[in-house]
Amino acid sequence: MHRFFVDPECIQETRASVIGPVARQAARVLRLRPGESVILLDNTGWEYSVRLSSVSSSRLEGDVVDSSRGSGDPGIILTLYQGALKSDKLETVLQKGTEIGVSAFVPVLSRRSVVRSSKDWSEGKYTRWRKIITEAAEQSGRSLIPYLGAPMTWQQASTSARGVRLMAWEGDPDERRNENGITRAGFREAVLPSMDRIRKEGLSLFVGPEGGFDAEEVEEARASGVAVVSLGRRILRGETAGLAMAAAVMYEAGELGG
Ligand code: SAM
Repeated sequence: MHRFFVDPECIQETRASVIGPVARQAARVLRLRPGESVILLDNTGWEYSVRLSSVSSSRLEGDVVDSSRGSGDPGIILTLYQGALKSDKLETVLQKGTEIGVSAFVPVLSRRSVVRSSKDWSEGKYTRWRKIITEAAEQSGRSLIPYLGAPMTWQQASTSARGVRLMAWEGDPDERRNENGITRAGFREAVLPSMDRIRKEGLSLFVGPEGGFDAEEVEEARASGVAVVSLGRRILRGETAGLAMAAAVMYEAGELGG
């Protein structure tokens, strides 16, 4: 059944009335007809099954025939602090991360990223990114739209992040201690003993931009209590690393099929 996030005011007890892009999409693109049902989502975690009584590109009307708590949202709160990437790559992270179960995305500006200033990201881009996240949440069966934060620096990110905090930093995988003397655990050995805490308090993952972190950024994060981890011998692209980590943690939490 088609799922749509709508403004909470669109659902009034037993009736639903929806205008704007959702009505247009339902009428023109999906060609829904009266008598068909849709799921409406108000981003509170509830889902409403609505039988349509009238459909036009300007308004959908229908009866709420059932409501229930959604079951598609993950049981752990995972925030991905993603080093600034080119727009198309960031879009991939937002879409796939939402499907995998990321709860919040925070773009982070750093010394080595191609995007160095939040001025490079217009309000129009943010609107597009929110739309990508919303559509991915609808498509993947979530009932809450992941949060998209305003860009921050690594320093701000490492102090504001909650729960277990892990920063992925590549280096010589045999060395565990790189030339700057910074010790790294393996990602798996950092995650497994922390699963109870991750379930209770959440997980914050820090992934660098295309150019990687510089040593100072890593040292600042470590000094504020962030654990620096290795993802093994292969170097993953900036848009791959966070998705791989998120999928691995969701697997461990039983969120990929139990
Ligand atoms: N060092 C390269 C550079 O300077 O362009 C690659 C950076 S990598 C493409 C982007 C980010 O992915 C890194 O900052 C890190 O967070 C993460 N990453 C990729 N492979 C990793 C690995 N094997 N171990 C830890 N982190 C990794």
